[in-house]
Amino acid sequence: MIRGIIFDMDGTLTEPHIDFQALRRELGVMVGDIVDHLKSVDDAERQRLETILHRIEEDAAVNATLQPGAAELLDTLRARGIKLGLLTRNTRKSVKTVLAKFGLRFDATLTREDGPHKPAPEPVLALAQRWGFQPTEMLVVGDYVYDLRCAHNAGARGVLLVNDKMPEWAHEADYIIHRLDELPGVIERIP
Ligand SMILES: [Mg+2]
Repeated sequence: MIRGIIFDMDGTLTEPHIDFQALRRELGVMVGDIVDHLKSVDDAERQRLETILHRIEEDAAVNATLQPGAAELLDTLRARGIKLGLLTRNTRKSVKTVLAKFGLRFDATLTREDGPHKPAPEPVLALAQRWGFQPTEMLVVGDYVYDLRCAHNAGARGVLLVNDKMPEWAHEADYIIHRLDELPGVIERIP
């Protein structure tokens, strides 16, 4: 039985907005993990890159649009007594902007500032412990392979939301949905 669900934000609850290729060009980081890259450069360069990154992220947050059915889905799940988490590599500031804009509430919100990030298992394990659940009683819902690997690394299950075309790593998902309103049906099928 599923007792806790952890959602990704960008491209999952909100429509994909950040153009990651353009972001990488502007940052000059064409390969590898952007957050890891920030840790590897000197302070001056990190500050320069973070300024660019924060501007792009805040712009994306201010202009964010919800995926169809996102708010209704959270209400439905909450009414069933399921704990709801938000786990994003975005900043706390951007997350606050998005949650306030749409009036969304979560039982827990973990952002880039909160330590190890996806695909590391720590955020899922932390919420499992906080809520008193086993990771196997939890789902991670996201649109990227890191969301799925984060789930699996913690012993939870991963649900892939496909936004446009089926990604080549889709086989890593335990469940695949094309619209958020398919999620309650998925949960009902999990014993
Ligand atoms: Mg995403």
